[in-house]
Amino acid sequence: VVRMSGINKWYGAYHALRDIDLQVAAGERIVICGPSGSGKSTLVRTVNLLEPFQQGRLDVCGIAIGADAITRAARLAVNRRVGMVFQQFNLFPHMTALQNCTVGPIWGARVGRREAHERAMHYLQRVGLEHLAQRYPAQLSGGQQQRVAIARALCTRPQVVLFDEPTASLDPEMVNEVLQTMESLAGEGMTMMIVTHEMGFARRVADRVVFMDEGQVIEMAGPADFFERPRSARLRTFLGQVL
Ligand code: ATP
Ligand code: MG
Repeated sequence: VVRMSGINKWYGAYHALRDIDLQVAAGERIVICGPSGSGKSTLVRTVNLLEPFQQGRLDVCGIAIGADAITRAARLAVNRRVGMVFQQFNLFPHMTALQNCTVGPIWGARVGRREAHERAMHYLQRVGLEHLAQRYPAQLSGGQQQRVAIARALCTRPQVVLFDEPTASLDPEMVNEVLQTMESLAGEGMTMMIVTHEMGFARRVADRVVFMDEGQVIEMAGPADFFERPRSARLRTFLGQVL
């Protein structure tokens, strides 16, 4: 579903992604972790074309993207196939939960209103919030807002969903409801790339865990090897800090 080959990215003079080779197959769950500033957000934002890159090749859901060659058509095609959930929910504040879920399909994917509405209610039910469909984001808790954001991401029927620290801005008591929602999506075979520091979640859900540092993928392994047999000193140090 996603294939990154030799991706390099600079922000001005700053080398933010270095020789990234990463493939995500359909149905796979990849968890990405690493210290602050290591390039995790940049990596997932590259996958959904929010960030251009200067070297390498990217293939997302069958759409080939070259360096410095993101066209409007590619962006639209990728937006239809890739869902994204951000740390700061990014819901539209002037729209209800339901409207947040229907706006993408109606305006982005030309789905009819009735169909968009049915889909939205289906996915709101899926995250346990159909009874709050008419509320505005300000009338929802952080955990509820993030679950609406997940439902919204699902409404375009994406082939892969990207999550960038989806629980990092939540109060501790709301973290679990969001992790459980994500875990149940994983159980249904959703393809997911997830940036998170929730290592218990990574252990339960990830097929592979990726450790990034200074814009590089330092280590990538199944959860058992990753947590119990880290090879690099940098990963051992990192795990010592977060576990
Ligand atoms: P965090 O855990 O804090 O979210 P991260 O691993 O997601 O960190 P990124 O946000 O990808 O890290 O940033 C990687 C590096 O690129 C950082 O040094 C950051 O300062 C830099 N950077 C990120 N966005 C920009 C930008 N728009 N312009 C310039 N530099 C940027
Ligand atoms: Mg980040």
